[in-house]
This record gives sequence, C-alpha cells and structure tokens, in this order.
Amino acid sequence: MGNIVAIVGRPNVGKSTFFNRLVGFKKAIIDDFSGITRDRHYGQSEWNGKHFTVIDTGGYIDEDEDVFNASVREQIKIAVDECDVILFLVDVATGLTEFDKDFANIIRRENKPVLVVANKADNLQREHATSEFYSLGFDKIFPISSQSGYGSGDLLDELVTHFDEEGTEDPYEGVPRIAIIGRPNVGKSSFVNALLGKERSIVTDVAGTTRDSINTRYQMYGKDFLLVDTAGIRRKSKIKDDIEFYSILRSLKALENANVCVLLIDATRGMESQDINILRQAQQNKKGMVILVNKWDLIEKDTMSTKRFEDTIKEKLAPNTHIPILFISALTKQRIFKAVDKVMEVYENMTKKVSTSKLNDVLLPEIDRHPPPALKGKHIKIKYVTQLPTNSITFAFFCNLPQYIKEPYMRYLENKVREHFGFQGVPINIVFRKK
Ligand code: GDP
Ligand code: GDP
Repeated sequence: MGNIVAIVGRPNVGKSTFFNRLVGFKKAIIDDFSGITRDRHYGQSEWNGKHFTVIDTGGYIDEDEDVFNASVREQIKIAVDECDVILFLVDVATGLTEFDKDFANIIRRENKPVLVVANKADNLQREHATSEFYSLGFDKIFPISSQSGYGSGDLLDELVTHFDEEGTEDPYEGVPRIAIIGRPNVGKSSFVNALLGKERSIVTDVAGTTRDSINTRYQMYGKDFLLVDTAGIRRKSKIKDDIEFYSILRSLKALENANVCVLLIDATRGMESQDINILRQAQQNKKGMVILVNKWDLIEKDTMSTKRFEDTIKEKLAPNTHIPILFISALTKQRIFKAVDKVMEVYENMTKKVSTSKLNDVLLPEIDRHPPPALKGKHIKIKYVTQLPTNSITFAFFCNLPQYIKEPYMRYLENKVREHFGFQGVPINIVFRKK
C-alpha cells in the first residue's frame, strides 16, 4: 500500500528538474499554506488517475562532489527502503560514471522495481547513447528530457503499473486509519502509549499489506481504529530515529496509508516549517487533518494563552483555518480522549453528504447576497450547487461561465460551505461546471 516513488541518482543528473516536472503536473491544486519554504523535496503527482507521492532524495541527501560517504549511502538506503518504486536517474550527456555504478549496487540489493531514467536525452543522438546504461544491469531504461518533457509519458505509463489499483482488497475496510505524525521528540510515542495504556488495548498487531508496515488496531471505549505504522510503535534499531530526513519519510509513508493525519506539535516550539509542509502534503492527498499541540503541561498559562497560541497557528495555516487544533498533554493524559473524539469526527466528515436541496436552500441566498464579480462585462450566474459522489468532498457549482470564476470567489464559496455544513479538518474541492 502506498504509492511512493523515490528519485535517486548522483548530483547534477537532473533530479530536481525532473521532480519539478512531475509535481508540476498537478498545478490545479491550490498551493495555499502560507509562510512555507519554497523548495520542496516531496510532493503529489498524478498520472492516468493514479495518485502518488514523489520524493526527490537530492533535496535531502548531502551529496559531496564525488565521494560516496557512509552517511550518503545510509540515507539512500533509507529512502529506497521507504519507497515502492525507484527512479534511478542517469545523465546521457555525461554518460556512465563510476558513481552511477556505485548507486546501482546499492539500489539493486533492495529488490524493488527500478526504472532507469536516462535524462538529458534532448536529441536523437543522445537518445541512442542511452544503450550504454544497460550495463548497469536493469532491464528498463527510459530516455527522457526533463527540460522538454520528452519521453516522460512512456516512463509514467510504466511507473503507474507498479502502484496499487484503487480498491485493492483491504481487510480493514471501513475502519478509520490514523497516522500520528510530527517532528522527532514532539511526543508521538508518548501519545500513542498514553492511548494504548496497557498492552491489553492492543487487539491485533498485524503486518499490513506493505512489506514492513505495522498497523495497530485500537478498540476501547467504543472506539475502533487503526494506528498506521506509527513511529512510536515500531522503531528501527539500526537507524538513528531523530534525523529529519527519516522522520519526513516515515510521515509521508504513514500519510499515504491513512485517512486522517494527526499532526503533533511541541507546545514549547510551536509550528515549524516542516509541520506546515507535511500538512500541505496531507491536504493535497485529501486526508483528514487534526493538529494536537502536545506538552501543554509545560506552558505557563494565563487566561489568554490558548487563544493566542491557536491564533498563531491559524495565521500560519491561513486560509486553511478549518483544521481543528487541540491542546493536550501525553504526559498527564490531559484531553487525549477528546483528541480521539475529534479525530473520529473528522473521519466522519470525510464521508458526509449534504443533500442538493439543503445546499441550494442555504447557498443560493448567500450567492445572491454576494454574487461573483462580473468579468469583461459578463455577468456570471450560479444556478445551482450539488455535492458530487466522489471519494473526496467536492461541490459542483453550475453556472453560465465557469471559466470566469476566480480564486477569491472560490474561497468565498468554500468558506460558506464550511460555515453552514462544517467539514472541519477535511479538504474540500470547489468546481464549476457549465449549465
Ligand atoms: P540534480 O542535482 O540531480 O537535482 O540536478 P538538477 O535538476 O539540478 O540539474 C542539473 C543540471 O542539468 C541543471 O543545469 C539542469 O538545467 C540540467 N538539466 C536537467 N535536465 C535536463 C535535460 O533534460 N536536458 C538538459 N540538456 N539539461 C538538463
Ligand atoms: P517522539 O519522538 O515524537 O515519539 O517523542 P517521545 O514520545 O519519545 O517524547 C519525547 C520527549 O518528550 C520524551 O522525553 C517525553 O517524555 C516527552 N514528552 C512527551 N509528551 C509530553 C508531554 O505531554 N509533556 C511533557 N512535559 N513531556 C512530554
């Protein structure tokens, strides 16, 4: 489970150029968390209706000129370990190097699908030159040019055949899957332990469909859910847990396999840019989201502190202020069951349906009060709205000139939907259709 592809290869082969091309495919998604670092090293992509997460390892791995040091080696291993398919980039312009061979040797041992991507095949002559890379010992080589996009279609066609089909059999169909994520030391394992209490609450400990993921089922106090591959439950002894790179990969993987993502942040540190990035990934992945501010016991409180803290987080989330924020302590167990209730509520929200008549009764008057601004002298008339029967929550607004409706008005409609119908913690799509 989980469709994760890692882009690996020596420096300068074009990993980041290729990465940008892949995640750039999904321009339609509104990139809307403010205050984030611009250069991302992971993102969502889609091809032929299959969605997947792309990791550009070059963004994380500190690559020396041509030294293949132990730490680089280790990080590549981790990346390769967490992904489902490896895209091994090589550079046709420079040809095969010793460094490529070293890479190949590491990757080969993993026993995962490897597609060799012969980048910079900008012209026919270079395309022919790709055959030398067969000596690396992999059968699939795809000449592409990341600059022009040439060849990427064939590559993506092949890539998506390695991903799960939508709806592959799931032994826990209908049981909410919850991922507890967050930076190292925010208290993820403490939170999980506080929830699980004594061992008896762990009903089953089953290996998931992925080779190495472990889900823990929780059934207590009338609640039933799966904790997805939680870092706190399973610790890898050989790898230092607190490296940022590793924690990001774990989070991405857990996200892929979960319905609701619970982001823990440390009250003494506040929301950090990595937290915002991971939430954005959750948003693009259409996951439910809850933010838990942990270690609240350490905060010296006055009457205003909760409100102030919440406002600061909301500012960073803007305009995605619908994500619920709770203040907890895994140590004292303060509000941890309230947190679980909230997570379940968000899960419910992910499948909530609002009838067309209710939607129109409530939203059409709002639209009348505040109609879409005219564009190029044309009036835009929204006639009715309905919730589409899609997996992620989508509202279609039927109107005469759908292409004329701009982002701010879309936001307005989203806010009105949320104001009247809730959907707290759940990404909403607003689409416009011609009528
Ligand atoms: P990374 O270090 O592997 O992430 O490599 P970059 O994406 O930074 O690319 C290294 C250099 O190769 C940059 O100057 C890119 O513009 C260039 N490059 C990337 N893809 C192509 C391509 O398809 N054709 C050509 N001619 N140059 C490319
Ligand atoms: P993880 O790396 O996110 O799994 O974090 P841990 O659960 O290992 O917690 C990191 C440290 O924070 C440990 O020393 C915990 O005892 C401490 N900690 C976790 N939750 C709380 C809390 O709610 N309050 C306080 N004061 N300390 C906490």
